[in-house]
Amino acid sequence: MLNPRRPEILALIAALYIALVLNQPFWRKFHDLVSPHSTRDWLFLAAAGVVISSIAYLALLAVSLKPLLRAVILILLPLTAAASYFMSEYGILIDAQMVRNVLETDTRETSDLITWKLIGYVAILGFVPAIAFCLVPWTERSWAHDLRAKFAYAAAATVLCLAALMPMIGDVLSLGREHRELKMTLTPLNYISAVTSYLRLEGRKKAKVIEQYGEDARRAATGSTRKSLFIVVVGETARADHFALNGYARTTNPELSKTPDLINFPAAYSCGTDTAQSVPCMFSGFDRKAFSNAKAETRENLLDILKRTGVDVLWRENQAGCKGVCDRVPTETLTGHVAPTFFPSTENGDDILVDGIDGRIAELEGDTVIVLHMMGSHGPAYWKRYPPKFETFTPACKDSQFSRCELSAIVNAYDNTLVYTDHVLARLIGVLSGAADHGVDAGMLYVSDHGESLGEGGLYLHGMPYALAPEAQIHVPMVMWLSPSLRKERGIDQKCMLDRASARAGHDNLFHSVLGIMNVTTRVYDPALDLFAACRGKPQKAYGLLAP
Ligand SMILES: [Zn+2]
Repeated sequence: MLNPRRPEILALIAALYIALVLNQPFWRKFHDLVSPHSTRDWLFLAAAGVVISSIAYLALLAVSLKPLLRAVILILLPLTAAASYFMSEYGILIDAQMVRNVLETDTRETSDLITWKLIGYVAILGFVPAIAFCLVPWTERSWAHDLRAKFAYAAAATVLCLAALMPMIGDVLSLGREHRELKMTLTPLNYISAVTSYLRLEGRKKAKVIEQYGEDARRAATGSTRKSLFIVVVGETARADHFALNGYARTTNPELSKTPDLINFPAAYSCGTDTAQSVPCMFSGFDRKAFSNAKAETRENLLDILKRTGVDVLWRENQAGCKGVCDRVPTETLTGHVAPTFFPSTENGDDILVDGIDGRIAELEGDTVIVLHMMGSHGPAYWKRYPPKFETFTPACKDSQFSRCELSAIVNAYDNTLVYTDHVLARLIGVLSGAADHGVDAGMLYVSDHGESLGEGGLYLHGMPYALAPEAQIHVPMVMWLSPSLRKERGIDQKCMLDRASARAGHDNLFHSVLGIMNVTTRVYDPALDLFAACRGKPQKAYGLLAP
């Protein structure tokens, strides 16, 4: 029955060899992450084996014409054996950044990596089985018979794959999300996708011309000798209805609820349902309906415009990158990793974003806008997002595999991340409160990039298409704080701001509000979207100068 001369059986042997033998580094990592201690966990591991083997099999079946399959195997097995060796030996992960490192490193350094062990590995696990594979004579049969047999095996593999995958899909998604390094360990998928995305990035880099935007921007003179500092805090995965400020029954805002002059926007909405859409969108000058990543990537954004008018701009990053928004402005990466693209998350709590802001205020050279990009409530490992002393709600789920936790424990862990975010924001406002003593008028605006589903309707995490997204993923917390001296300088009426804060607002307002508060005039500025515009009288000092 299992005649190895038949192409569907040959492809099956090759697929199992690649999936189970050449992927030892992946299975070791996977086993450690799952740390199986129940029958269900072992079934999960076995199901993953079935799914990965089936997918490899379907891919090989698709190219199972004799010369083609032989060529694919001759190339694939040695390369995959080499990838497997480098991962086992050096613990490296293979992604586009790694491909860049390899291709852009000089040959002398690369030659140091070619050891006898590597040659042995590639020969024994790559070339020998590949050549043996090519020497097996194939059964002769009619093309119709051949096609029928392959279809039958492909159908069986598809059914098997789905049957193994469906019951585990939630765990697979959450594990894959939290541990993106898994994808970078699964070979040959890792190097194929790494090379493809490297080539795509290079192509885009060459093709990309950044269109100027707001090129007429200039700053209205205020006649003031004081400096201003506005901080935009880009939050992560915080949902509005879990903020106590918005009526949540738990005390998730113990510090902000006591912060004087805080302006809370209870009806703020995000532009996207994931970081990669929302972060570029809010700085782009496109509103949600007009925004696309492709358009934003090729046009200047808020930070470029501010920089052109002479505002000092700084992006401080404690997450997985600024998604191109900070490409042309100074950036500080505070994640604790030299090469953040290798790692999905930061090693540091968001307090690190506030560290050193007081020193900057004391030495501020000119009007400044700083963006703080938080790790916030990034899931599913919520418990890793806050220091132990912020564990307010217990028991908190400490497992990325949600199925191992009670829903209440998942929500506890999530709410603890908000308690910590509350602390970081209140601490920032505390630091900004002291700025007036240094002649600096300071303010801040915090808004989360999107929300998070916490089990409603069986949904977790975020990233649903916007039109289908539940309220939990798009209704986001947003708060603002303006020092009395900034309000005075800009002629902003606090009561007016408080009165208007309950209106619908959100990411669409960020671009225009920051231009507004920094006194930037340009034809691309829309006062109707500036949260301050309706509450500004004439700035008191300017008024004083103009009055005579
Ligand atoms: Zn996000």
